[in-house]
Amino acid sequence: MYVIFIESIVSLLANYEGESMLDSYKLQPETASEADVYDAIILGAGITGLVAASVLLRQNSARIAIIDEYQHIGGNHIDWSANGFTFDIGSLIFQDDSPLLKHFPELLEHYVHIHPTWGRLNPQRQITRYPISIVDDILGAGPVGICRIALSIIHARIWRRRLRNAKDFARFWIGGYLLKRSGLENYMARFYGVPPEHIDLELAEKRMMWIKEHSSLRGLLRKMRQRKLPHLKNKQLARPKEGYAVLYEPAKKGLIENGGTFRLGTPISKVAKDDEQFIVTPAQGKTIAAARVISTMPINIMLRLCGLEQEKSLETITLISLYFSFSGDRGFTQSILYNFSYEAAWKRLTIYSDFYGRNEGREYFAVEVVSNDTITSIELAEAEFRAHVASNAIFNGDLKLEGGQVLKNAYPIYTHGAPAEAARQIDRLRQFGIESFGRHGAFNYQPTARVSTLEAERALGYRHPEPADNPDRRERHDKRLELIPCKSG
Ligand SMILES: Cc1cc2nc3c(=O)[nH]c(=O)nc-3n(C[C@H](O)[C@H](O)[C@H](O)COP(=O)(O)OP(=O)(O)OC[C@H]3O[C@@H](n4cnc5c(N)ncnc54)[C@H](O)[C@@H]3O)c2cc1C
Repeated sequence: MYVIFIESIVSLLANYEGESMLDSYKLQPETASEADVYDAIILGAGITGLVAASVLLRQNSARIAIIDEYQHIGGNHIDWSANGFTFDIGSLIFQDDSPLLKHFPELLEHYVHIHPTWGRLNPQRQITRYPISIVDDILGAGPVGICRIALSIIHARIWRRRLRNAKDFARFWIGGYLLKRSGLENYMARFYGVPPEHIDLELAEKRMMWIKEHSSLRGLLRKMRQRKLPHLKNKQLARPKEGYAVLYEPAKKGLIENGGTFRLGTPISKVAKDDEQFIVTPAQGKTIAAARVISTMPINIMLRLCGLEQEKSLETITLISLYFSFSGDRGFTQSILYNFSYEAAWKRLTIYSDFYGRNEGREYFAVEVVSNDTITSIELAEAEFRAHVASNAIFNGDLKLEGGQVLKNAYPIYTHGAPAEAARQIDRLRQFGIESFGRHGAFNYQPTARVSTLEAERALGYRHPEPADNPDRRERHDKRLELIPCKSG
């Protein structure tokens, strides 16, 4: 019992972790003969689309068109500025060993080096260690609580071995009592948009392996080995203070120089196919054609554009971002705070002023709120956030909402059967001839730009040339990095 208990309470380090829907389309009369012809067309200029373009150009495609309905490149790396503050929707932390930099080394000099710290608001109204604290969550439960934690772990390991969903998975490794007491169960529901018992086991196995990694003896040993590898210590980076344009413009320039063409601010109206090629009709501008189309857009939109019926819809999260400035005593020191309490829809906040300095003496931060049945607007999210922080005695002072954004299709909701349904729909696109991958294109929970890069490379069968002196070293290095829990996304 002791071993199981100790195995399960060791410190858990980890991470959990759009598009505007186009409702009406105006078809244009162009035909294939009038179209601009490319070797390939990439739909979506997010990380997946940019990496796909880089790969295709390295794989000898001479002319690539990249289309996005946003005016900017970088996809869901979206910022917002006003009154001297620049905020973003929450996607801002990167690493200096990211495989993305192999495609776009010019990005590196534009990042800001940061030293983020992570904390969490737990159900006992404490700001404590993320994702779990031995002192506050376990020892703080008192003798009776500690016994209940131990007994619930033993119970789960003996009687709940059949895992059917994310809750079963988490309960098996840390026990039902600690799952509830730590607030992890509430955080999972808040994060994934549905209660954990409705979340597909496949997602848990993909995204919550950190629980297993840190709750099993084998995982602990691996972690100790990783600690000894100095080259795995990467540096944390944030987007430039001014926003993403500074970061991604050089990447765009490089792609253009090598044969890429960008069509931005252009939703797509239709994707058709003749014997030889695909014809992509944008809502504005000239029709384009290519023998190959890669989609990184949401699958349901892509099916519709191809005129294929969608039998079942795939659900996605709508993310509300609140942008605040603040003067006063915020009540905690961590730069990133997760909401593991039992109340409120906000899931994480990031204090930008810890990374970029204050603006006219004021701190500033973004709050990510997952929209639900009751929290459907910026106003409602703000009111709930204000009430929640007041009841938890944080942000005592002048809290001012500078603005906010609502992002549809922020990330997929993995209810039971959704991954299998997504696979069926991707297969229909494949039969039509479209390659669909990426966060939306594969309905794949990609928490970081690193993962999106590796997945895009994999989908296109691309391997970077190995350094001549040590073949395979880089791949082994990337594989190991995938096992390290990250705290972005
Ligand atoms: C809130 C949040 C926080 C994150 N935080 C981090 C972080 O800190 N660090 C990190 O490394 N990663 C983070 N990520 C994850 C990372 O951003 C993703 O893995 C990556 O951006 C996915 O890229 P993608 O190209 O697959 O998808 P997207 O970025 O969503 O790109 C898809 C593109 O398709 C376009 N599109 C969709 N429909 C159409 C249409 N009809 N016509 C034309 N274009 C269309 C969209 O405009 C978009 O540009 C975060 C993600 C989110 C949502």
